Amino acid sequence: MIGSNASFTRRLLRWYEGSRRELPWRVPRGSKDFPDAYHVLLSETMLQQTQVATVIPYFHRFLERFPTLADLAAAQEQDVLRMWQGLGYYSRARNLSKAAQQIVAEHGGKVPSSLEALKGLPGIGRYTAGAIASLAFDQRAPILDGNVQRVLCRIDKIEADPRNRSTQELLWDRADQIVPRSQPGEFNSAMMELGAVVCTPRSPQCLICPVNACCEAFAAGLQDQIPIPKKAAPTPILRRHTYCISHDEHWLIEQRPATGRWASMWQFITIDPQAEAAPCISSLIKNPKPLGKVRHALTHRRYEFHVFRCAIERRSKAAENRAWVTLEGLNQFPLPRPHVLIAKMLQTSLPPESASRTRRQRRR
Ligand code: SF4
Repeated sequence: MIGSNASFTRRLLRWYEGSRRELPWRVPRGSKDFPDAYHVLLSETMLQQTQVATVIPYFHRFLERFPTLADLAAAQEQDVLRMWQGLGYYSRARNLSKAAQQIVAEHGGKVPSSLEALKGLPGIGRYTAGAIASLAFDQRAPILDGNVQRVLCRIDKIEADPRNRSTQELLWDRADQIVPRSQPGEFNSAMMELGAVVCTPRSPQCLICPVNACCEAFAAGLQDQIPIPKKAAPTPILRRHTYCISHDEHWLIEQRPATGRWASMWQFITIDPQAEAAPCISSLIKNPKPLGKVRHALTHRRYEFHVFRCAIERRSKAAENRAWVTLEGLNQFPLPRPHVLIAKMLQTSLPPESASRTRRQRRR
């Protein structure tokens, strides 16, 4: 970094005070209060791998349903997953629920302020612990998320791959060195904000950047080459067959296993066509009619669901991990995003009289 830490901090904080975005988990500009620790825990969990604009409506809805950490701790996991539906990476929601229960059981219902105690909570790693300790409790603790990592690499002209373990250690050390004793929470928020709105992955806005006088990458004209980009790996496509099996306007859904992707959420009957379907499923699939395809991209893989519809004449009692529900009743179950889209596809494929019946049910 060119110049001293003090001059970097002064420039950064002055800019942040005047330019920061008002976000629902922050205190209003000019306030001397610190944000609520539960709100920081919730927002930092939601913001992992997810953009601010996507998180805002979820944050509001979640707090309406679970206004306090005690409300969240008392909630059923299925309710928490239902409120998380569509946000993805559902292990975050399960861990958040467990963390809330642990805070109630071991910390008297108050989010702990020490880094060690925070790191002992489910789903809370070094970054989230540092964010809660500094933002909510104004403790001097480093943070290193994608935004801060990019800013530090550019400021210090670090040309090594930031994903390497040794570079990560170097960056954590650097993040620790530059956090000031005064206003550490504001400083960390400002670093994240700078990475999110000025020092962006592509086309960083160096000419208007508040810390451009301290930036080695800018001085060397290397800001577009640092940090070095990740090599794109080919993304596998996983094909699945989904059967929307109906009887008398009720649809058969099943609960996914308790571990793995979309754990414990609900879906229409879905099989891997490469694997043989269980006999109890094969007997239910009669004259399937193709409905269409639903594609869903995740970070490292893509799914393609080939959707079929079939009606059966008689239905037996659903097994423990299955249920017969109306389309309207699906609202009570947490569904992975592709199955929300399959439900919409099904709805539009229904004959007009069934569709209007469903609409009447919805109005009641
Ligand atoms: Fe990022 Fe450019 Fe600012 Fe350096 S000068 S921190 S590269 S925006």
